[in-house]
Amino acid sequence: MSNAPMIPISTYRSTPEAENLVLEVVRSGQLAQGPKVERLEELCCEMAQTKHAVAVSNGTATLIAALLAHDIGPGDEVITSSFTFVATLNAILFTGAKAVFVDIDKDTYNLNPEEVAKAVNQNTKAIMPVHIFGQACDMTKIVQIASENNLAIIEDAAQAHGATWDSKAIGSFGTGSFSFYTTKNVGSGEGGVVTTNDDDIAKNIRLLRNQGMVERYKYERVGWNFRLTDLQAAIAIPQMEVLSDSNKARNETAQMYSEAFDSIESLTIPFVADLAGPVWHQYSLRATDEKSRDKIIESLHSQNIGAGVYYPRPVYDYPIFQSHDRVKITNDAVTREVCNTIFSIPVHHYLSDEEKSRVIEGVVNAAS
Ligand SMILES: *Cc1c(COP(=O)(O)O)cnc(C)c1O
Repeated sequence: MSNAPMIPISTYRSTPEAENLVLEVVRSGQLAQGPKVERLEELCCEMAQTKHAVAVSNGTATLIAALLAHDIGPGDEVITSSFTFVATLNAILFTGAKAVFVDIDKDTYNLNPEEVAKAVNQNTKAIMPVHIFGQACDMTKIVQIASENNLAIIEDAAQAHGATWDSKAIGSFGTGSFSFYTTKNVGSGEGGVVTTNDDDIAKNIRLLRNQGMVERYKYERVGWNFRLTDLQAAIAIPQMEVLSDSNKARNETAQMYSEAFDSIESLTIPFVADLAGPVWHQYSLRATDEKSRDKIIESLHSQNIGAGVYYPRPVYDYPIFQSHDRVKITNDAVTREVCNTIFSIPVHHYLSDEEKSRVIEGVVNAAS
């Protein structure tokens, strides 16, 4: 075992700005949704280049609210990727809709548009692209499939704050859904935001967030309590204000890693599509097979370098989902291959130069 300090795969560090804002909220006595949430929403409009941003309690709630705002429910099908966190699937099942999984692209690990097109039928209501690890899906093709078939696009952008496709902000191609869970590029403990240019969708998200009320005791639809608090917004705001700097730092680290690892024959470095502007929620390498992947992770851990597998199995590959009548599995050969060989190393924007050097050396050691 190494004596060097642990380099975590993700972390949060407080700033004087965050502490001042949190104190301001606590002292104001207004702890629930208020002016700080509004300020956070303004910053999210800037991030996603959208007319509206509606903050909600977490990323799973953003997906649920987005699906419900598009009137998706029983009898409807939503096409998505199984190379994702379980929230993508749980949100679809929550609405009563069917989750239809298609295979991913072998290079980007994002939805393969050709597979999406094949899965569309008369029950399909939406495509839910997951911008995995902070790299955009091929939105040119997904927008085309959606418009040809009159489908909604609900972007699972939980890992993609500030990412772009063809210079256009992620979260603006349809209804965008972001998470502020602690480990994401912007973290407030729990939290999320829905982004959209559509006035009606924005209005419905606001209704769903607050018991379906337009004003006190005036109910327009069935709703829930999906509100975010000013305390959480106070933690997210300073991070949103420096989002482009943190994304730049992540990007520089990723480029440094890729240069260092490109010549290692037993590793595949991340592929970045020409039109993608990634924000590196994770920096993920692939080993030649499962056994060598697991050995590399073990070696990294023994060097006190954080490493994880996102994701070890397709999201439905667990008994409760395998037997679920609203989970539809199609071709998944690429997804399975990626799940068996992928691993992620620390790329977060708090890494020091020394830590980056240790990660590089650690991976070189582990892979040789
Ligand atoms: C984190 C995450 C979510 C859910 O966000 P929470 O804020 O944890 O509810 C959804 N989809 C993806 C791809 C995620 O990584």
